[in-house]
Amino acid sequence: MREPDRNENGWFGAVARTMSDGLLVMDADARIVFVNEAIRAIFGYEPDELVGESAARLFADGEEHAPPAALSRLPGTPDASSNGNRFEVSGVRADGARILLEVTYGRVRQGGERFFTALLRDISERQRTDSRLRLQARLLDAVGEAIIATDPAGRILYWNAGAERLYGWRSEEVVGRPVEEVTPTEMSRPQAREIMGRLREGESWTGEFMVRDRTGRAFPVLVTDSPVLDDEAGLIGIIGASMEITDRKRAEEAQRFLAEAGRLLASSLDHEVTLGRVSRLAVPMLGDWCVVHLLENDRPMAVAHCTPGRRDEDTDDLEAVLTGTDGLLAQVLPSTDPVRLGPGHPACTEDTQARLRELKIRELLVVPLQIRGEPLGVMTFGRPGGGQPYGVEDLRLAHELAGRAASAIDNARLYRDAEESDRAKTDFLAVVSHELRTPLNAITGYAELLTGGVSGPLNDKQRGQIERIGVSARHLAHLIDEILTYARMEGGRDTLEPALTDVGETVRDAVSVLRPAADGKGLELSIDAATHGPELVTDPGKLRQIVMNLVSNAVKYTDEGHVRVAIRQLEDGIELTVKDSGVGIPTEEQERIFEPFRQVQAPNTRTVGGTGLGLSVSRRLVQVLGGRISVESTPGTGSTFTVWLPKDPPDGR
Ligand code: ADP
Repeated sequence: MREPDRNENGWFGAVARTMSDGLLVMDADARIVFVNEAIRAIFGYEPDELVGESAARLFADGEEHAPPAALSRLPGTPDASSNGNRFEVSGVRADGARILLEVTYGRVRQGGERFFTALLRDISERQRTDSRLRLQARLLDAVGEAIIATDPAGRILYWNAGAERLYGWRSEEVVGRPVEEVTPTEMSRPQAREIMGRLREGESWTGEFMVRDRTGRAFPVLVTDSPVLDDEAGLIGIIGASMEITDRKRAEEAQRFLAEAGRLLASSLDHEVTLGRVSRLAVPMLGDWCVVHLLENDRPMAVAHCTPGRRDEDTDDLEAVLTGTDGLLAQVLPSTDPVRLGPGHPACTEDTQARLRELKIRELLVVPLQIRGEPLGVMTFGRPGGGQPYGVEDLRLAHELAGRAASAIDNARLYRDAEESDRAKTDFLAVVSHELRTPLNAITGYAELLTGGVSGPLNDKQRGQIERIGVSARHLAHLIDEILTYARMEGGRDTLEPALTDVGETVRDAVSVLRPAADGKGLELSIDAATHGPELVTDPGKLRQIVMNLVSNAVKYTDEGHVRVAIRQLEDGIELTVKDSGVGIPTEEQERIFEPFRQVQAPNTRTVGGTGLGLSVSRRLVQVLGGRISVESTPGTGSTFTVWLPKDPPDGR
């Protein structure tokens, strides 16, 4: 075997030693005649070990581009730089590990002999990086978001499939161009400065702005910009992930709109006022004008409108189109869903269309107002010529708004009806009570005249009967008084007359009136309080009535035992208790007995008379005095009513 002239100390040796690529020189049989130093790093062999060996041992078995097979196929021209001589080949290291090599072959003829050269580069790492990058790019394409990488000057380096979809530009059309030119954004200078400042600090920035796509369509996006920093923390790139948020924005806006509408609708019970406010809110969200009609005797009557920028004549014309003979509303009213009225709708005749065009209206949206299936009216919105046609989202929003408006109208009406019927009831009670009192006064008056013997002497039997008339008449008078008090309070005609009051005295006085009734039933009636005091600023008339009501109930609903009244002075007022050993009140009734006309015993089984008003009057009086009333009771054992009154009554009434 002849060795080539290695010229190791000349320029060839210098090149071979400094090359980072491995160099093999082989003879015609692929036997190694020379290797350089770099071979050690690539294969882990000492260069000397290899000389004289077959080059095949450096390559994987069966590699078609490895020596010796590859050498025989080399083209005739010795041109080491030719790409045709470059291959990727699997190599085998001294430790048996596989590596990927890029091999470039060349041939040399020297002294009449043929030699082959092979330049070897370990590209295992590059291949790993390549496939990692390919995987990453795949991943970035798989995410739905648009991902754009730029250099710090904003020149596009990378543009994923999401960006292609969102902005309409293909990656190869935009890479290398300034991002601002491709996706113009509405961003103020200070905002841009703020973003760049954050990125330079190594922080990411998230925010919203408007951008335009290839067609010029503007839409809102949510963007997160993250910095790419080099080892010295210098900014070398920016990765921006963006997604369109038009739908989310619209949904948020619709939510805000409905919340505001709800607030306006609840702001007053006068629905003409609230509908006026809501119609102003609806412009321009649902159209450039809005009219609300309510049905009165089955005819739609306009109760609110917002038609900014229109002349009065236009508003009148519009009203005529909607409610005139053959008006649009009459034709669509039976519908329960929103109706889009424009060219193509059967109710929109040529004539109507012409009139709408004159009014510069492109399309109407008519939304029925109804509650529990009963039509109340309609809300009508209009979009101008050149405006967007009504879409599904608009219909849904209008429907939702109409639902809220309808229930607000319904509430207001129910409230008004209730108020009216309540007022009618209290007026009625006041009148009836008054009319009953007049003849009753005559009855007691004449009874007293008779018992007084003014019209001649009576026998005992007659006297007894007349006294019975007197007792019944007084009972009736008491009932009428209760009804009158109740009616007066309900009608809001009761006033507070505060005075410095001796509570002990007032209570004794009231109790003394009821003592005969208690004695008559053999009940012990006691008062646990000093003869005088405590003193309190309160309305003595009302206090007296409260005590009378509670003690008379205690006597009424107690057949044996006692009725005990007690007064206690507290720091912040007084506490009055009326305790009896009577029938008691079932737990579930204890709250309800304070409601007007509420009686525990069914009327036909009742043995004691009453109106069912005493406690409701008492509770109301206690409230007027600024106090509280409560009951504790055990059926069969007795009841205790407790009244707390403050030191000072509340101001006014
Ligand atoms: P009435 O005129 O029927 O007494 P009230 O409003 O004074 O009306 O009382 C309502 C109901 O509460 C009574 O019908 C009775 O059933 C029950 N009640 C009130 N006070 C007592 C009591 N001290 N003991 C038992 N039941 C009572």
